[in-house]
Amino acid sequence: MQKIIHIDADCFFAAVEMRDRPALKNNPIAVGGDPGRRGVICTCNYHARRYGVKSAMASAHAKRLCPHLLILPPDMAKYRVVSEQMRDIFSEYTPVIEPLSLDEAFLDVSNSDCAAGSATLIAQEIRQRIERELGINVSAGASQLKFLAKIASDWQKPNGLTVIPPGEEQPFLRRLSVSKLPGVGPVMQNKLAGAGITLCEDVLNIGLNSMVFRFGAIGERIFKMSKGIEFGAVAKHSAKKSVSVESTFDHDLSSADDIKQRLPQLISRLRARLPDSRSFSSQFVKIKFSNFTQKTMESRIGASSKHFSDEGFLRLMLAAWHSQKLPARLLGVGVKMSSAHQFGQLELPFDSVKS
Ligand SMILES: [Mg+2]
Repeated sequence: MQKIIHIDADCFFAAVEMRDRPALKNNPIAVGGDPGRRGVICTCNYHARRYGVKSAMASAHAKRLCPHLLILPPDMAKYRVVSEQMRDIFSEYTPVIEPLSLDEAFLDVSNSDCAAGSATLIAQEIRQRIERELGINVSAGASQLKFLAKIASDWQKPNGLTVIPPGEEQPFLRRLSVSKLPGVGPVMQNKLAGAGITLCEDVLNIGLNSMVFRFGAIGERIFKMSKGIEFGAVAKHSAKKSVSVESTFDHDLSSADDIKQRLPQLISRLRARLPDSRSFSSQFVKIKFSNFTQKTMESRIGASSKHFSDEGFLRLMLAAWHSQKLPARLLGVGVKMSSAHQFGQLELPFDSVKS
């Protein structure tokens, strides 16, 4: 039987900061950019959430909601260390680990001998160890279905463990809102609602043929998930060939100047994700426009320099924008590794933050 655990740290960046400065623990804090410089909130603690502060929100807006909010600048190097320590703990239980981001991973413990092979006990133990050894809380979910493990880890956040035992998948799914399914965003949710579908139960009632007829391949996947027959395998992580970061904006960026202003923050997030020994073969950008089309552009990095340039990103980004000249809802920047680095020990999760 497949046994999957999904682990997700609670307000990760903020949790690490509170651990290092316990005096902050009972105050609303966030990690993010400077409100005076169009910064955005990356993460905030649960005190701040009570004021309506959320990740992806403009820092200036967050300050208006909660004037005494303390916004700390991100310390990516520190968070990466904690992320690696988490990974070390995971690897004591299974070699099959799929990181999704710095603070989130799937673990396949199907063949683990630890805790008598009980996914529930392994998840409990990992949670306790991370709390004791690293001083932060993580939530966990366990199920034989990969996507359900992820939904479960979110079920009793923060600091929760939810197990969906074998045989309980279908009762759990029946009452589940389709909005919880991976790949079902607000647009898809609206389309489904238009067909009278809000729960997975509704999907089953409509049936596979009708789901495929109306929604195509995604319709089939939604049906399989709703029925609990979409297992999914944990992809054992291999070295990344490229690293990229992207941001979706609350308000579309409508001018070249707007785009120019957002670029430095993206580039510094990308830098924070990259290893010290850097050697890249190309740099690329991505823009998603208000009409949901997207444009990517890439340029090779000369063998002599091996490093990307900020100007290079700006040039590519403006060229990509000029291809359509529509308001932009998402910007992304990334680099591809030189082949010499592709098989190294790079373990860099794709990082996507809404802002
Ligand atoms: Mg998290």
